[in-house]
Amino acid sequence: MVDFRLYNTLTRSVDVFSPADGKTVRMYTCGPTVYNPAHVGNFRTFLFEDLLRRTIRLGGWGVHQVMNLTDVDDKIIKRASERGLTISEVTEPVIETFHVDREFLRIQNAEEYPRATEHLPEMIELVRKLVERGIAYQADDGSVYYAIDRFPGYGKLSRLDTREIKAGARVVQDDYTKENAQDFALWKAAKPEDEKAGAAWDAPWGRGRPGWHLECSAMAMRYLGETMDIHCGGVDLVFPHHEDEIAQSEGATGKPFSRFWCHGEFLLTEGSKMAKRVGNVATVGDLREQGVSPAAFRHFVFSTHYRKQLNLSSEALEGSIEGVRRVGDFSDRLASAKGGTPALAAAADEAEREATNALFDDLNAPLAMGALFTFIRKANAELDRGGDDRAALDRARSVFARINGVLDIVPSLEVGDEASRIEARLAYRRAARERRDFATADAIRMELEAEGIAIEDGPSGTRWKRAR
Ligand code: AMP
Ligand code: ZN
Repeated sequence: MVDFRLYNTLTRSVDVFSPADGKTVRMYTCGPTVYNPAHVGNFRTFLFEDLLRRTIRLGGWGVHQVMNLTDVDDKIIKRASERGLTISEVTEPVIETFHVDREFLRIQNAEEYPRATEHLPEMIELVRKLVERGIAYQADDGSVYYAIDRFPGYGKLSRLDTREIKAGARVVQDDYTKENAQDFALWKAAKPEDEKAGAAWDAPWGRGRPGWHLECSAMAMRYLGETMDIHCGGVDLVFPHHEDEIAQSEGATGKPFSRFWCHGEFLLTEGSKMAKRVGNVATVGDLREQGVSPAAFRHFVFSTHYRKQLNLSSEALEGSIEGVRRVGDFSDRLASAKGGTPALAAAADEAEREATNALFDDLNAPLAMGALFTFIRKANAELDRGGDDRAALDRARSVFARINGVLDIVPSLEVGDEASRIEARLAYRRAARERRDFATADAIRMELEAEGIAIEDGPSGTRWKRAR
């Protein structure tokens, strides 16, 4: 097997990777903050991680992937206060939507989806260790802070010069878009609105709630041990989030926290980063409305290397819709063919070699996809010729399945699409009902009825059927 190489932000180079135990890759992927449905920019990062996960398995290793759900932070508490809800009333429907959208985009299940609010004991224990080691201190405001000048490795991931780090004001914000290069909060003293929203817990330093960075260190070590193989996220997480995770974890254990750090570039709209704050976001629901299938969106995302910025445009999406139509037609043709030619088998061998080499070379999906399309062109020409070589046909089928097993860009059958579209809208309706947003729930029901779909709410959930 050729080496599997990955760009490691820690070394700033493409390095040969294999799991520490030779068998299973233990990987942590920073998950969504669940105050609003994730946008397709977030999903670009999750798709890069899906590509990584599937390529690791193509290499014959197992994967143990953990993706956290940030279900307590400033934005969630703010939303809860505005609406007179608890944080879990805000986050539950959003988590549900996240999984519906994730499945729609064919992003494979991680092994665990731990929630921050379910891991308070681990987080408190980590803070206790840091205080005991003299790296963390409680300040006058009751919060506990991490003293970055007491951790010599601070800045090694982001290559930040510690002399440039401004001393002084401490930052209690979770908002990582700010330049909060100062001591950061591990434990934030509870304010009345935190108590009201159910976002305060007992700790040796008084009631409070965890800082954002703390949850990832605590949950990563809880599920993957003190040193993991790979830690991923979008590029905006390099600093301060991942830098602070390293400081917390290594400050407590004295061991390397992650061997590889991998970061995906941004999805942009009209040249600027897609972000809820900017208001230029598109959701998976928007994709559906525009008739962009999961296969087409995956094709669009994988057409650009994960370390390059990618612009969302309707022209590019149109191109992807057309691209996956060809993949789908070929898939049907391959399924119904009766035989092939020796040249078909040769084209399959070449495609497998090229696609695998591309994927193992720092996840070069655009090149792998190019190899797949070259194969489709050559194979179509061979199938035109007929031929009765069963073994060649089998070879073509298995190579196609192997490459597509990573990219997953065959559009699903009409019937399945229709059903998954309806299921997805019912899930949105369920989420709306759960947050007592009955206007939205009713609107979804009426839309479905207008399309001739009858829905029936019963004790075991909602059922639907075509009325005609
Ligand atoms: P958040 O919910 O803000 O914590 O973000 C979840 C993940 O999405 C993180 O890994 C971010 O780095 C990533 N992310 C946020 N915005 C974008 C974007 N425009 N393009 C790609 N990834 C993003
Ligand atoms: Zn994280």
